[in-house]
Amino acid sequence: MTDPTAAPRPCDLVIRARVAFLLDDAGTVLGDAAVAVVADRIVAVGPAAEIEAAWMPARRLGSSRHLLMPGLVNTHNHTPLMIVRGMVEDLSFAPAYTPGIPQGDALAFEEAHALARLGVFELLRFGSTTIVDFYRHPEALARAAEEAGLRAFVGGRIMDADNEALARGEWHADAARGRATLAEAMDVVERRRAPDSLVTPILGPHAPDTCSPDLLREVATLAGERDLILHTHLHQSPMEVEAVLARDGRRPVELLEEVGLLGPRLVAGHCIHMSDADIARFGRSGSHVAHVPVGNAAHGSVAPILAHEAAGAGITLATDTKSGDMFEAMRMALAATRIRGGGFVRNAADVLGWATRGGAKALGLADEIGRLAVGRKADLLLLDARQPNLAPLVDGPGLLVHSANGAAVDTVVVDGRVLLEGGRPTLFDGDEVVATAETVARALWRRHGHTPLIA
Ligand SMILES: [Zn+2]
Repeated sequence: MTDPTAAPRPCDLVIRARVAFLLDDAGTVLGDAAVAVVADRIVAVGPAAEIEAAWMPARRLGSSRHLLMPGLVNTHNHTPLMIVRGMVEDLSFAPAYTPGIPQGDALAFEEAHALARLGVFELLRFGSTTIVDFYRHPEALARAAEEAGLRAFVGGRIMDADNEALARGEWHADAARGRATLAEAMDVVERRRAPDSLVTPILGPHAPDTCSPDLLREVATLAGERDLILHTHLHQSPMEVEAVLARDGRRPVELLEEVGLLGPRLVAGHCIHMSDADIARFGRSGSHVAHVPVGNAAHGSVAPILAHEAAGAGITLATDTKSGDMFEAMRMALAATRIRGGGFVRNAADVLGWATRGGAKALGLADEIGRLAVGRKADLLLLDARQPNLAPLVDGPGLLVHSANGAAVDTVVVDGRVLLEGGRPTLFDGDEVVATAETVARALWRRHGHTPLIA
C-alpha cells in the first residue's frame, strides 16, 4: 500500500510497538507495528518497516518493548473526591452524606482545584485519555483537566436536596441550593463552549433522589436547547429507589423518562438496582450506562450489565474515583458478568470495547476516538511490556484485561500531544501535585475535627 519509490513524508510522531491492538471491529492485532501522527490525528497504521519507510517524524516514541493501544475512556468521576480516599470506604454506603466527612460544599475553589489535579494526574497516569468529571466547582475540574491535556467532559453537580435531611431519610427541596448549583453548572457551560477545546461542558444533575422533578425538567430543557451531554447517578442504591417512589410515586428511571432526561445523550452512573421493566425502559431510550464495577462491588453490588446490553443500552466503563485504574475496572467488569450468571458470553475484547468504543459512542465521539485507525484522533497509550505480568504475550488482547494494570502505562498521547512519558507527566510536576493535594486534604480533615495520625 506504500509506494516504495516515494520520498518519506514529514510527520510529527512515529510510535512504534512490539504489538499494536487496534481495537477495530475485526480485533486486529499487529506485531512489530507503528502509527504515524500529524498534528492531532493518526495518518498511518501498519507494519513498522512500512511506516518507517514512508514517514519522517519530528519525534519517535515507543520501541520493541512496548505495547500500543487506544486511550481509555473513563465515563464517571468526581476528581475532588480524593479528599476522602482511604478514610471512608469501610464506613457505609454513602459516607458523603454523613456529618464529619468533608463535603464538596466545604471546598474552596483552590482546594477543589488542588484535589482535582491529583485525580486527573491519577487518571492520566493509568491510561485514561478521555474522562467525564462532575462535582462542585466544575471550573476547577475543567482547569485541572486542561492543565494535564486530557480530553474531558466536565459538569457541575446540580441538586436541590437538603443533604442532612436526606441522611435522616427525609426529603426537603432547597430551592436556593438548586438555583446556586444550576448557576454554577451553567457558568461552566458558558465559559467552556469553545468548539476546538478538549474540555466539553456537560450537565450533571446529581441523582433522581437529590433533585426535584422540576429541577430535572429544567436541566432536560437546557440540555436539549444547548445540545449537551447529560450525566447522572441512577438506581445506585435501594435507598434512592425508595426515596423517589415515596416522593413521586414512580421509580427513578420512570421519573427520568417523564422529565425528558432519558435518551442517547444520557450517560448514567451505576444503574444497579433495576427491575426487568426498568432495564427495558432504560435500554429502549438508547441511554448509556457508566458501569463502575469496582465501586459497585465495594458496596456489595453487581450491576446487571448483560441485561442492559441486551435491552439496547450503551455500555461504558468508569473508575468513579476509586483507584483510577481502568485495567482493574475492565477485569472486574468481566468478572461481574460472570458473577451475575452470564457465563463466558463476554470476553477480554468485549470489555476493552466498553472501555474504548463504548465510551466514545456515549460521548458523541464514535468516529473520533476509541480505536487506532487512519483519520482518528491520536489518543493512545504505550505499555511497558517488560513488566512480568505482561508476559508471555502469545496472541490476542487477553493479557491487557486479565493481567495488565495501569502502572504499566509508560506513554500517553492525547490529541497528538505527549502527556506522559516514562510514566511521568510532561505538562506539570507530578510530585508537586501530590504534595499540594496532601496538604489540602489534611487541612480539610482537620477542619472537620479529625487529626491526621500520620504527621
Ligand atoms: Zn458518582
